[in-house]
Amino acid sequence: MVTQRIPPIALSIAGSDPSGGAGAQADLKTFARLQVYGCAAITALTVQNTLGVQACHPVAPEIVLAQIRAVLEDLPVSHVKIGMVGSRANLEAIGEALALFTGEIIYDPVIRSSSGQNLLADQEGAICGSRLAEKITVITPNHQELQSLTGQECPSTEAALNAAATLFPLFPALRAAVLKGGHLDEELELVTDHLLLAPHEAIPRPLYKSATHRRLRMTKNTHGTGCTFASAFTAYHLRSNSYEQAFRQSVSFIDRLLTVSQPFDAGGGTGGLMHHLVS
Ligand code: PLP
Repeated sequence: MVTQRIPPIALSIAGSDPSGGAGAQADLKTFARLQVYGCAAITALTVQNTLGVQACHPVAPEIVLAQIRAVLEDLPVSHVKIGMVGSRANLEAIGEALALFTGEIIYDPVIRSSSGQNLLADQEGAICGSRLAEKITVITPNHQELQSLTGQECPSTEAALNAAATLFPLFPALRAAVLKGGHLDEELELVTDHLLLAPHEAIPRPLYKSATHRRLRMTKNTHGTGCTFASAFTAYHLRSNSYEQAFRQSVSFIDRLLTVSQPFDAGGGTGGLMHHLVS
């Protein structure tokens, strides 16, 4: 049999969720569903189910660093997706491990679990100005994460878009920011997500694109939606090399995934998504 070279692959750097809804488990399911080979370096072991997070145990920073190095020195990783980092020391270790990495780094600034548990540790203050911040090419905050990162109150969509534009000087390699609109204008039946493309010489202000989809109020199966969105963006970008295409495709993927997941009784609390069933 003729052996084939493996095409570029994606590495998730994230916490473990044993219930399979969020974290590295959600990322790997998403990569597989979107036909991308996925690797995962674990930053923290959480103890949780759909009812909530009971404990969180960060992995030692030298082990986080060693996992990432082991994957990068052996496999053709073009895209790294970062979620929960578990500790400030892990944030530094990830920055060190990725110092020579030249591919895309998609950062999903995880602050809280869907059940309300704080998952950020002291990552919030640490990311800006860190070694890792200099390497991030895409960031995918929701409304609350945007406010934390920029230190700005964003009571309206306009304020949120203005705040999102200030991410570019904070993250010097940033090419694109996706602002997820689910928690903005919550009375509206439609949700609008925004993509901001980095300013450059020809266009000195960020370029804005938007995508609108239905608000699914009835489903309780939303655990891991943030992780899944960021990993879908990662996979679609890996396949298309286009930020706008990755944005539109991942918005549509999440809409289909939430819809297909809605009827299932997936645990007693906030259920996970049915990645294996989405078309
Ligand atoms: N990462 C881990 C390991 C988690 O356990 C969670 C939530 O429980 C998240 C990330 C964030 O999940 P979501 O995608 O719902 O924001």
